[in-house]
Amino acid sequence: MTLRIGCHGNGRRINVAGKRAFISGISGQDGAYLSSFLIGRGYEVHGLLRRSASSDVVGYRLKRLGVYDDVTLHDGNLTDLSGLIRILEAVRPAEVYNLAAQSFVNSSWQQPILTGLVTGLGATNMLEAVRIVDPGIRYYQASSSEMVGLADDADQTGTIRYHPRSPYAVAKLYAHWMTVNYRESYGFHASCGILFNHESPLRGIEFVTRKITDGVARIKLGLQDTLALGNLDARRDWGHARDYVRAMWLMVQQDEPDDYVVATGRAVSVREFARIAFSSVGLNAEDHIVVDERYMRPADVDVLVGDPSKAARVLGWQAETTLDELIAEMLEADLERVGKADR
Ligand code: NDP
Ligand code: GDP
Repeated sequence: MTLRIGCHGNGRRINVAGKRAFISGISGQDGAYLSSFLIGRGYEVHGLLRRSASSDVVGYRLKRLGVYDDVTLHDGNLTDLSGLIRILEAVRPAEVYNLAAQSFVNSSWQQPILTGLVTGLGATNMLEAVRIVDPGIRYYQASSSEMVGLADDADQTGTIRYHPRSPYAVAKLYAHWMTVNYRESYGFHASCGILFNHESPLRGIEFVTRKITDGVARIKLGLQDTLALGNLDARRDWGHARDYVRAMWLMVQQDEPDDYVVATGRAVSVREFARIAFSSVGLNAEDHIVVDERYMRPADVDVLVGDPSKAARVLGWQAETTLDELIAEMLEADLERVGKADR
């Protein structure tokens, strides 16, 4: 039996016997990798796409991974509950992955209310849509290491403590606790992945890792000479998005829902990340990096490093890509892209 759900110009024939997943944030970095992962496992993948006047660039990450024609996109917005209900009624997914967010910490100080509406309340909209349409849907919430912020990541009992340090982190913490509460109040199979930073060639260019690999590519190709950055001493636990979406899926497959830290367990500084990237193309980072106050935050988190032992023990998950491999893959992609654009 097949049906066609006409949506975003890429409606296609659907095998309703297959497992069906719905992803909000499908056009983002993780949405693209998760789509590719699920399609590889025989899923029928649907996603929420907010309307854009620049429709030519929407979906470029899905296209880069070669899965754009294999997903069904539904026009909607996380802030529009009635639209979410209608879409879930039409799609009837077995699993929902709530990845959509205003996800950039810097922007959350410029747009704290929007960040609260989308990253925070948007998650409640998605939970409500699930509660109304089918509370049996398995649910994943994209929680963040930024929620941990200044707090130690765990006390002696393994309970995570939180001290969010930005409007983004506060909004994520609200969404996190709403998800836990829907689990405890309504018996949802809802799990939160407390994911530490994860990157890839598809990472947004405003994040420091992509900014560095793009900058190194431009400097190497003679298009610019300096790279302006903010806090070079901040340390992050950087993994590869491709590995991290596998952890999301594993959480949803467990008999019991739960929350998991997903990380590599190793943090390096922004300075060190840049040093590796510059030196791998034969350049010296110190000759090119300038510190620019514009990229300093009103409040930063100096160190974020996660303990992935529960994910390893229960899910059998561990990060497979090393930091050097991640940087090499990002640099290769940026060198190719910047080189082509310059021709
Ligand atoms: P991205 O910023 O790449 O993607 C965010 C997605 O959300 C995009 O598809 C975006 O759509 C969509 N979106 C934003 N606002 C709305 C809205 N109002 N309605 C519908 N969709 C919307 O993030 P990542 O893929 O990197 O991250 C995925 C999730 O995981 C996010 O929630 C993020 O906060 C969280 N997270 C990410 C970490 C990381 O290191 N990457 C770490 C921990 C958590 P559009 O393409 O139109 O902008
Ligand atoms: P985040 O951890 O989700 O905020 O991811 P980012 O990649 O945006 O930032 C990681 C760390 O890099 C933070 O501590 C930033 O303060 C630091 N950083 C230093 N320079 C920059 C910069 O130019 N841009 C960004 N985005 N972050 C920077």
